[in-house]
Amino acid sequence: MDTTASCKRCGNVIQEKPYPAWCDQCHYPGIKDEYQEMRDLIEEGYSYADAAVRSGYRGAEEFCGDA
Ligand SMILES: [Zn+2]
Repeated sequence: MDTTASCKRCGNVIQEKPYPAWCDQCHYPGIKDEYQEMRDLIEEGYSYADAAVRSGYRGAEEFCGDA
């Protein structure tokens, strides 16, 4: 069995166990809260990009050209 996980934010493959939701590069204190807030915003009808930027989970610059 060769299970891997991928980072929720950048999609990098995570090989360390137990698999964290985010890779070391993406993880920061509070990311869980911001991720949850983003999910809530998406449920309220925001697009992924809108919700991600509003919650602080991702920077607006990450979506330039994709708005
Ligand atoms: Zn990552």
